[in-house]
Amino acid sequence: MHDGGPLPLLIAGLFGALIGSFLNVCIYRLPRQESIAWPGSHCPKCSHPIAWYDNIPILSYLALAGRCRHCAVRIPFRYPLVEILNAAGYVSLLWFFGPSWMTVAYGLLYSALLVVAGTDLSHKIIPNAVTFPGIMLGLVCATTILPLGFLNSLLGILVGGGILWLLAWASPYLFGKEGMGGGDIKLLAMIGAFLGWKPALMTIMVGSFLGSLVGVSLIATQVIKREDYIPFGPFLVCGALVALFFGQSILDWYQGILAG
Ligand SMILES: [Zn+2]
Repeated sequence: MHDGGPLPLLIAGLFGALIGSFLNVCIYRLPRQESIAWPGSHCPKCSHPIAWYDNIPILSYLALAGRCRHCAVRIPFRYPLVEILNAAGYVSLLWFFGPSWMTVAYGLLYSALLVVAGTDLSHKIIPNAVTFPGIMLGLVCATTILPLGFLNSLLGILVGGGILWLLAWASPYLFGKEGMGGGDIKLLAMIGAFLGWKPALMTIMVGSFLGSLVGVSLIATQVIKREDYIPFGPFLVCGALVALFFGQSILDWYQGILAG
Protein backbone atom coordinates (compact mmCIF):
# COMPACT_ATOMS: atom_id res chain seq x y z
CA MET A 1 0.00 0.00 0.00
CA HIS A 2 1.11 3.51 -0.87
CA ASP A 3 1.40 5.95 2.05
CA GLY A 4 3.30 8.89 0.52
CA GLY A 5 0.38 11.32 0.62
CA PRO A 6 -1.90 12.56 -2.15
CA LEU A 7 0.71 14.36 -4.34
CA PRO A 8 2.31 11.23 -5.93
CA LEU A 9 -1.19 9.83 -6.58
CA LEU A 10 -2.18 13.09 -8.28
CA ILE A 11 0.95 13.01 -10.45
CA ALA A 12 0.26 9.36 -11.34
CA GLY A 13 -3.27 10.37 -12.36
CA LEU A 14 -2.13 13.28 -14.56
CA PHE A 15 0.56 11.11 -16.17
CA GLY A 16 -2.01 8.34 -16.69
CA ALA A 17 -4.43 10.72 -18.44
CA LEU A 18 -1.62 11.93 -20.72
CA ILE A 19 -0.63 8.37 -21.66
CA GLY A 20 -4.36 7.61 -22.06
CA SER A 21 -4.47 10.29 -24.76
CA PHE A 22 -1.73 8.38 -26.62
CA LEU A 23 -3.61 5.09 -26.11
CA ASN A 24 -6.57 6.67 -27.95
CA VAL A 25 -4.27 7.25 -30.92
CA CYS A 26 -3.24 3.57 -30.76
CA ILE A 27 -6.86 2.38 -30.50
CA TYR A 28 -7.82 4.47 -33.54
CA ARG A 29 -4.80 3.78 -35.73
CA LEU A 30 -3.56 0.23 -35.00
CA PRO A 31 -6.63 -1.55 -36.49
CA ARG A 32 -6.32 0.75 -39.54
CA GLN A 33 -2.65 -0.16 -40.01
CA GLU A 34 -1.65 3.51 -39.63
CA SER A 35 1.53 4.81 -38.01
CA ILE A 36 1.05 5.77 -34.37
CA ALA A 37 3.90 8.31 -34.57
CA TRP A 38 3.02 10.31 -37.69
CA PRO A 39 1.16 12.49 -38.61
CA GLY A 40 0.02 14.44 -35.53
CA SER A 41 -3.55 14.21 -34.24
CA HIS A 42 -6.20 15.39 -36.64
CA CYS A 43 -9.98 15.22 -36.84
CA PRO A 44 -11.01 12.01 -38.67
CA LYS A 45 -13.94 13.89 -40.29
CA CYS A 46 -12.51 17.25 -41.46
CA SER A 47 -8.79 16.31 -41.19
CA HIS A 48 -8.09 19.60 -39.40
CA PRO A 49 -5.00 19.27 -37.17
CA ILE A 50 -5.89 19.33 -33.47
CA ALA A 51 -4.18 22.17 -31.60
CA TRP A 52 -2.48 21.38 -28.29
CA TYR A 53 -5.15 23.26 -26.31
CA ASP A 54 -7.85 21.05 -27.89
CA ASN A 55 -5.86 17.93 -27.07
CA ILE A 56 -5.63 18.21 -23.28
CA PRO A 57 -6.85 14.94 -21.73
CA ILE A 58 -10.45 14.99 -20.42
CA LEU A 59 -10.55 18.84 -20.10
CA SER A 60 -10.61 19.57 -23.84
CA TYR A 61 -13.48 17.14 -24.34
CA LEU A 62 -15.46 19.02 -21.68
CA ALA A 63 -14.46 22.47 -23.03
CA LEU A 64 -15.50 21.50 -26.57
CA ALA A 65 -18.68 19.82 -25.28
CA GLY A 66 -17.61 16.65 -27.13
CA ARG A 67 -17.45 18.19 -30.62
CA CYS A 68 -14.69 19.06 -33.13
CA ARG A 69 -13.91 22.82 -33.00
CA HIS A 70 -13.92 23.06 -36.82
CA CYS A 71 -16.60 20.71 -38.19
CA ALA A 72 -18.59 20.05 -34.97
CA VAL A 73 -18.54 16.27 -35.55
CA ARG A 74 -19.16 14.33 -32.32
CA ILE A 75 -16.00 13.13 -30.57
CA PRO A 76 -16.75 9.60 -29.30
CA PHE A 77 -17.08 9.38 -25.51
CA ARG A 78 -14.44 6.65 -25.75
CA TYR A 79 -11.73 9.35 -25.86
CA PRO A 80 -12.20 10.89 -22.39
CA LEU A 81 -13.21 7.44 -21.05
CA VAL A 82 -9.86 5.85 -22.02
CA GLU A 83 -8.03 8.82 -20.47
CA ILE A 84 -10.03 8.52 -17.25
CA LEU A 85 -9.57 4.74 -17.09
CA ASN A 86 -5.82 4.97 -17.64
CA ALA A 87 -5.51 7.71 -15.01
CA ALA A 88 -7.58 5.66 -12.54
CA GLY A 89 -5.47 2.59 -13.36
CA TYR A 90 -2.14 4.29 -12.63
CA VAL A 91 -3.49 5.79 -9.39
CA SER A 92 -4.77 2.37 -8.28
CA LEU A 93 -1.49 0.64 -9.19
CA LEU A 94 0.54 3.18 -7.21
CA TRP A 95 -1.93 2.82 -4.32
CA PHE A 96 -1.70 -0.99 -4.35
CA PHE A 97 1.96 -1.58 -5.14
CA GLY A 98 3.65 1.62 -3.93
CA PRO A 99 6.46 3.48 -5.73
CA SER A 100 8.24 0.45 -7.19
CA TRP A 101 9.39 -1.11 -10.46
CA MET A 102 6.47 -3.47 -10.06
CA THR A 103 4.09 -0.53 -10.43
CA VAL A 104 5.90 0.54 -13.62
CA ALA A 105 5.70 -2.97 -15.13
CA TYR A 106 2.02 -3.34 -14.24
CA GLY A 107 1.36 0.15 -15.65
CA LEU A 108 2.68 -1.04 -19.02
CA LEU A 109 0.46 -4.13 -18.84
CA TYR A 110 -2.56 -2.08 -17.79
CA SER A 111 -2.20 0.35 -20.72
CA ALA A 112 -1.69 -2.53 -23.17
CA LEU A 113 -4.90 -4.13 -21.84
CA LEU A 114 -6.82 -0.88 -22.34
CA VAL A 115 -5.70 -0.66 -25.97
CA VAL A 116 -6.69 -4.30 -26.55
CA ALA A 117 -10.14 -3.80 -25.00
CA GLY A 118 -10.62 -0.66 -27.14
CA THR A 119 -9.63 -2.19 -30.48
CA ASP A 120 -11.52 -5.43 -29.79
CA LEU A 121 -14.70 -3.49 -28.99
CA SER A 122 -14.41 -1.10 -31.93
CA HIS A 123 -12.93 -3.38 -34.62
CA LYS A 124 -12.95 -6.95 -33.22
CA ILE A 125 -9.17 -6.83 -33.55
CA ILE A 126 -6.50 -7.57 -30.94
CA PRO A 127 -3.39 -6.10 -32.58
CA ASN A 128 -0.23 -8.21 -32.76
CA ALA A 129 1.60 -4.87 -32.50
CA VAL A 130 0.49 -4.87 -28.82
CA THR A 131 0.52 -8.55 -27.85
CA PHE A 132 3.84 -9.68 -29.41
CA PRO A 133 5.98 -6.94 -27.84
CA GLY A 134 3.82 -7.37 -24.70
CA ILE A 135 4.74 -11.05 -24.35
CA MET A 136 8.45 -10.26 -24.73
CA LEU A 137 8.23 -7.30 -22.35
CA GLY A 138 6.39 -9.41 -19.76
CA LEU A 139 9.09 -12.05 -19.91
CA VAL A 140 11.85 -9.44 -19.55
CA CYS A 141 10.07 -7.65 -16.65
CA ALA A 142 9.40 -10.98 -14.88
CA THR A 143 13.08 -11.90 -15.17
CA THR A 144 14.40 -8.53 -13.97
CA ILE A 145 12.09 -6.27 -11.97
CA LEU A 146 9.11 -8.45 -10.99
CA PRO A 147 9.26 -11.03 -8.18
CA LEU A 148 7.63 -13.49 -10.62
CA GLY A 149 10.83 -14.85 -12.21
CA PHE A 150 11.60 -16.20 -15.68
CA LEU A 151 10.21 -19.73 -15.25
CA ASN A 152 6.81 -18.73 -13.88
CA SER A 153 6.47 -16.14 -16.64
CA LEU A 154 7.32 -18.71 -19.31
CA LEU A 155 4.77 -21.09 -17.76
CA GLY A 156 2.26 -18.23 -17.81
CA ILE A 157 2.77 -17.79 -21.55
CA LEU A 158 2.50 -21.52 -22.26
CA VAL A 159 -0.43 -22.28 -19.92
CA GLY A 160 -2.37 -19.10 -20.77
CA GLY A 161 -1.83 -19.28 -24.52
CA GLY A 162 -2.07 -23.08 -24.58
CA ILE A 163 -5.44 -23.37 -22.85
CA LEU A 164 -7.04 -20.75 -25.08
CA TRP A 165 -5.50 -22.42 -28.12
CA LEU A 166 -7.17 -25.69 -27.04
CA LEU A 167 -10.49 -23.91 -26.42
CA ALA A 168 -10.30 -22.16 -29.79
CA TRP A 169 -9.57 -25.50 -31.44
CA ALA A 170 -12.35 -27.34 -29.59
CA SER A 171 -15.12 -24.72 -29.54
CA PRO A 172 -16.51 -25.48 -33.03
CA TYR A 173 -17.01 -29.07 -31.77
CA LEU A 174 -18.23 -28.13 -28.28
CA PHE A 175 -20.39 -25.09 -29.02
CA GLY A 176 -20.95 -25.36 -32.77
CA LYS A 177 -19.34 -21.99 -33.42
CA GLU A 178 -15.99 -20.23 -33.42
CA GLY A 179 -15.36 -19.24 -29.82
CA MET A 180 -12.28 -17.07 -30.00
CA GLY A 181 -9.54 -16.03 -32.33
CA GLY A 182 -5.77 -16.00 -32.41
CA GLY A 183 -5.79 -12.55 -30.84
CA ASP A 184 -7.30 -13.91 -27.62
CA ILE A 185 -4.59 -16.59 -27.45
CA LYS A 186 -1.79 -14.03 -27.73
CA LEU A 187 -3.59 -11.72 -25.29
CA LEU A 188 -3.67 -14.39 -22.60
CA ALA A 189 -0.06 -15.32 -23.34
CA MET A 190 0.83 -11.67 -22.66
CA ILE A 191 -1.18 -11.67 -19.40
CA GLY A 192 0.53 -14.92 -18.37
CA ALA A 193 3.95 -13.42 -19.16
CA PHE A 194 3.36 -10.54 -16.73
CA LEU A 195 1.41 -12.37 -14.00
CA GLY A 196 2.39 -16.07 -14.12
CA TRP A 197 0.38 -19.22 -14.74
CA LYS A 198 -2.01 -19.18 -11.76
CA PRO A 199 -3.33 -15.64 -12.41
CA ALA A 200 -3.55 -16.58 -16.12
CA LEU A 201 -5.93 -19.41 -15.17
CA MET A 202 -7.85 -17.02 -12.92
CA THR A 203 -8.13 -14.60 -15.87
CA ILE A 204 -9.77 -17.30 -18.02
CA MET A 205 -12.20 -18.27 -15.25
CA VAL A 206 -13.27 -14.71 -14.40
CA GLY A 207 -13.32 -13.71 -18.09
CA SER A 208 -15.48 -16.69 -19.12
CA PHE A 209 -17.84 -16.12 -16.20
CA LEU A 210 -18.30 -12.41 -17.04
CA GLY A 211 -18.55 -13.22 -20.76
CA SER A 212 -21.33 -15.79 -20.24
CA LEU A 213 -23.15 -13.50 -17.82
CA VAL A 214 -23.14 -10.54 -20.21
CA GLY A 215 -23.76 -12.75 -23.27
CA VAL A 216 -26.78 -14.48 -21.73
CA SER A 217 -28.18 -11.14 -20.49
CA LEU A 218 -27.80 -9.53 -23.93
CA ILE A 219 -29.48 -12.51 -25.64
CA ALA A 220 -32.28 -12.65 -23.04
CA THR A 221 -33.02 -8.93 -23.49
CA GLN A 222 -32.79 -9.40 -27.29
CA VAL A 223 -30.08 -6.78 -27.65
CA ILE A 224 -28.14 -9.35 -29.69
CA LYS A 225 -29.01 -12.68 -31.33
CA ARG A 226 -27.69 -16.03 -30.18
CA GLU A 227 -25.47 -16.40 -33.26
CA ASP A 228 -23.99 -12.87 -33.00
CA TYR A 229 -20.29 -12.55 -32.28
CA ILE A 230 -19.30 -11.12 -28.91
CA PRO A 231 -15.63 -10.13 -28.60
CA PHE A 232 -14.01 -12.11 -25.78
CA GLY A 233 -11.00 -9.79 -25.37
CA PRO A 234 -12.67 -7.18 -23.11
CA PHE A 235 -13.81 -9.94 -20.72
CA LEU A 236 -10.30 -11.39 -20.58
CA VAL A 237 -9.07 -7.86 -19.85
CA CYS A 238 -11.54 -7.59 -16.91
CA GLY A 239 -10.40 -11.02 -15.70
CA ALA A 240 -6.77 -9.94 -15.92
CA LEU A 241 -7.46 -6.81 -13.85
CA VAL A 242 -9.13 -8.90 -11.14
CA ALA A 243 -6.11 -11.24 -11.19
CA LEU A 244 -3.68 -8.29 -11.16
CA PHE A 245 -5.20 -6.46 -8.19
CA PHE A 246 -6.76 -9.28 -6.17
CA GLY A 247 -5.06 -12.43 -7.51
CA GLN A 248 -2.69 -12.86 -4.58
CA SER A 249 -5.44 -12.30 -1.98
CA ILE A 250 -7.71 -14.79 -3.76
CA LEU A 251 -4.91 -17.39 -3.99
CA ASP A 252 -4.01 -16.93 -0.29
CA TRP A 253 -7.65 -17.30 0.68
CA TYR A 254 -8.05 -20.39 -1.50
CA GLN A 255 -4.89 -22.02 -0.16
CA GLY A 256 -6.07 -21.18 3.37
CA ILE A 257 -9.26 -23.14 2.74
CA LEU A 258 -7.32 -26.10 1.33
CA ALA A 259 -4.92 -26.06 4.30
CA GLY A 260 -7.64 -25.46 6.90
ZN1 LIG B 1 -13.51 18.09 -37.50
